[in-house]
Amino acid sequence: MPISNNSFSSLLTSWMQSEEIILWGVADLRSFSTPFAATGQRFPFALSWAIPMNPLIMANIQYGPNQAYAGDYDRVNVRINELAEKLAAGIRDSGFQARPLAASERTDPVTIKGDFPHKTAATRAGLGWIGRNCQLITRTFGPWLRLGTVFTDMPLPCGLPIERNYCGRCTLCIDACPAGALRGAAWYPGLPREEILDVQACDSWKIEHYFQCHKGHICGICAAVCPYGLKLLKKKPV
Ligand code: SF4
Ligand code: SF4
Repeated sequence: MPISNNSFSSLLTSWMQSEEIILWGVADLRSFSTPFAATGQRFPFALSWAIPMNPLIMANIQYGPNQAYAGDYDRVNVRINELAEKLAAGIRDSGFQARPLAASERTDPVTIKGDFPHKTAATRAGLGWIGRNCQLITRTFGPWLRLGTVFTDMPLPCGLPIERNYCGRCTLCIDACPAGALRGAAWYPGLPREEILDVQACDSWKIEHYFQCHKGHICGICAAVCPYGLKLLKKKPV
């Protein structure tokens, strides 16, 4: 970067390729309460991308997190934050507003939420849907990923939002959750998180049982058992 004024879209595609990001898109967030840009206007769009977790590590946490998972979680978060800063700087150099959304940052400890849901940007960009485990599920990586988001006012072609879930009759994540925190609701856009996840039950369980892993901030069981993730183990390495 910087991105030229002539072809934001193709330069962005090249940039994503150079960073080996294969799953990304642009979300139209004009009907959402996004953060305010320096112009005083809310950001209308967001770039959303996924960085995969290590599949072998994910497959090994079906009964609880371990230090390998904690390490991979950190590795991916660091990469997401670095990419977000780089991307936002490139967009700003091109004369537009941009603001990264930090990976895994809780700005409201009471509701256990960040400034804006990465998952909302991802579903509106067409990356995937919210599964019964309350995580983004993608065809490419299942839920074995973490998300990056950069808000912007740069005009870019937006993805087709995903408006339904593809969990079918599966309840594996609900059955596996040791905290009984997953309520079984099938996601559709606008469904409150509370209908899918009892966030206090999830959080209390993690603090009580997995404090040795990021002071009880991570678990991963409900992602580890998801068939959309497990099918990655059958893929041949490229
Ligand atoms: S992260 Fe763990 S405790 Fe929370 S919903 Fe998933 S399986 Fe249950
Ligand atoms: S385990 Fe099944 S129900 Fe849960 S998110 Fe994955 S596909 Fe959906």
